Amino acid sequence: SEMLSLSGVTKAYARGKPSEVNVLQGIDLMLQKGEVVGLVAPSGAGKSTLLHISGLLDVADAGDIRVAGEETRGLSDRKRTALRRQAIGFIYQFHHLLPEFTALENVVLPQLANGVSQQDAEARALKLLDKVGVAARAGHRPAQLSGGEQQRVAFCRALANKPLLLLADEPTGNLDPATSDVVFAALMEVVREEGLTALIATHNMELAGRMDRVVRLDQGRVLDKS
Ligand code: ADP
Ligand code: ADP
Repeated sequence: SEMLSLSGVTKAYARGKPSEVNVLQGIDLMLQKGEVVGLVAPSGAGKSTLLHISGLLDVADAGDIRVAGEETRGLSDRKRTALRRQAIGFIYQFHHLLPEFTALENVVLPQLANGVSQQDAEARALKLLDKVGVAARAGHRPAQLSGGEQQRVAFCRALANKPLLLLADEPTGNLDPATSDVVFAALMEVVREEGLTALIATHNMELAGRMDRVVRLDQGRVLDKS
């Protein structure tokens, strides 16, 4: 079944002004449940914009977006937020972990906010930290972790509430190539184990090659779908 669908999605910044930038000019894209798709394009091509619109953090100027089968056009802000919290996990290039909390707490907190009990949240957090190889770091704060470990914890936080759709923007872009390689492998493993659908923006063709397929953006459109 389909997990994310965009059709005819357009987006411009500074619309109607001399500085107008037409970033997305008619995006058609569909991700089936369980598909892991790479989003590859040069810097400035609109990858972040596309991820933000897909993740209901930003609104398109035109077009239709369905998330987990739900049409999002015309949803109230409250319903968009509810759908985002229930269905979508985000990972960024920088971890954005809360500095005053431990790795475990960073993965537990979003679950508590979603009504999960402390005990269940900790069990889920430890399971995820273990899957990506940082269970031994559960009691450390972000500043005490390496860049790769911080990013692994950020993956766990993004997956804590069992999202259906994972959106990742250069998830290992901040890491040196060797670290990026192993951290990306850990991400792919947990994504597969959890049966997630994922759209992952990257510059790195080698990483993109490990995904089910690659989508390229060119002039605001999807260039090829193979
Ligand atoms: P990418 O993630 O591929 O680097 P972005 O989606 O971040 O691309 O940006 C696409 C284009 O839109 C760039 O030219 C960028 O400068 C422009 N842009 C992004 N956000 C804004 C904004 N809030 N206001 C104006 N222009 C923006
Ligand atoms: P929370 O209460 O957990 O912050 P939100 O619904 O506000 O939940 O956000 C859901 C996800 O979207 C979180 O991962 C958050 O970091 C991210 N997010 C929220 N607002 C923005 C934004 N303006 N830009 C980028 N990411 C955002």
